[in-house]
Amino acid sequence: MIATEKTIQTDTQSTGNAWDVVRIRRDFPVLAQTVNSKPLVYLDNAASSQVPQVVIDRGSRYLREEHSNIHRGVHYLSQRATTAYEGAREKVRRFINAREARECIFVRGSTEGINLVMHGYGRKSVGVGDEIVISAMEHHANIVPWQMLCEEKGAKLRVIPMNDDGELLLDEYEALLNERTKIVGVMHVSNALGTINPIKEIVARAHKQGVPVLVDGAQGAPHLKVDVQDLDCDFYTISGHKMFAPTGSGVVYGKAELLERMQPFMGGGDMIRTVTFEQTTYAGLPNKFEAGTPAIASQIGLGAAIDYLNSLDRAAAHRYEQELLAYATAKLSAIEGVRIIGTAREKTGSLSFVIEDVHPHDVGTILDQEGIAIRAGHHCAQPTMKRFNVPATARASFAFYNTKEEVDRLVAAVQKVIEVFS
Ligand code: PLP
Repeated sequence: MIATEKTIQTDTQSTGNAWDVVRIRRDFPVLAQTVNSKPLVYLDNAASSQVPQVVIDRGSRYLREEHSNIHRGVHYLSQRATTAYEGAREKVRRFINAREARECIFVRGSTEGINLVMHGYGRKSVGVGDEIVISAMEHHANIVPWQMLCEEKGAKLRVIPMNDDGELLLDEYEALLNERTKIVGVMHVSNALGTINPIKEIVARAHKQGVPVLVDGAQGAPHLKVDVQDLDCDFYTISGHKMFAPTGSGVVYGKAELLERMQPFMGGGDMIRTVTFEQTTYAGLPNKFEAGTPAIASQIGLGAAIDYLNSLDRAAAHRYEQELLAYATAKLSAIEGVRIIGTAREKTGSLSFVIEDVHPHDVGTILDQEGIAIRAGHHCAQPTMKRFNVPATARASFAFYNTKEEVDRLVAAVQKVIEVFS
């Protein structure tokens, strides 16, 4: 059945709270189009989520009325742009409950955020024989920078193993921590498996040994309430384009006392206090980490996306997404030949699967002909694929604007794939 406004049900939660998905979908103009003559079913939200009209409007308003460089100008437009940009930072602060806005550094996304911590903290703190702990399910963005650092410093990468459901083994994790451990880097939510990791527990165990923790929040912030003070993590990264904001927007949160001790990531304009040919002194936070002209329009857009999220009942959105995930998991698991990869007890967002004797790229291509956008591949998590003994998976990833009817179309298309290959 095609998901039209008439056929989509407004889901009523068991708690009695209604999630009006018909109304929500109207906020996202991209969803109203057809692809290959079929209504688009967008299930690639873990790669990039869609952008609501209010965020598009805010970005256009900046370009139409405020476009100018920030911080440096004394003129009206520059001051307006600066106010909007710094206003977005304050929105981020409140969204993740950071103590201070200067703890929220604007970056292009989680990759840049992790690299900033690797350069700023890692290169200063890690030496020969030291160890860096990451998990077996990390995205390449939280593997490769640390590997580069290990290579440069003669340090060692240690990996927290996971079980066959895609859950980290916490006792084995604790056993990895020792006086040589300089940092732990763990994802909040797995993009490839959907697992929600017990971050509070992971942080507490590292802190017992005095080790700071970086949380890759690329898939956490779009689905879960993030409170960095409650998690007590030392760093937390956000990718705006996975959280209903434009590409080029993102944040790395860091505790002020750590950020202050860190060296800058990039050198250039806006990150200095004084420059002579003999010596440069650096600006304070957050400017020290924001060299050059940033993605002003995109970060203002991130602020607007946060306003949009705050205007929703996020608890109801989360429950709704959980219902969708459970519904899709039940339907897909019931198909003979389909295997779900990632069966952790706590999951959100992503549903990875493989079909016996069919390459995931073929699944993706046939689904695209049906107007259904999913992701097929290794999801920048090749070690995770290896752990589950698959070259790749097909992945449907959900947002609160998806519907059960869209899941039904996904399931019908998967059945079609099986028919084509049988
Ligand atoms: N970490 C995770 C868990 C991700 O899913 C992604 C992107 O897919 C990244 C990091 C990299 O994020 P970005 O491409 O926004 O830098």
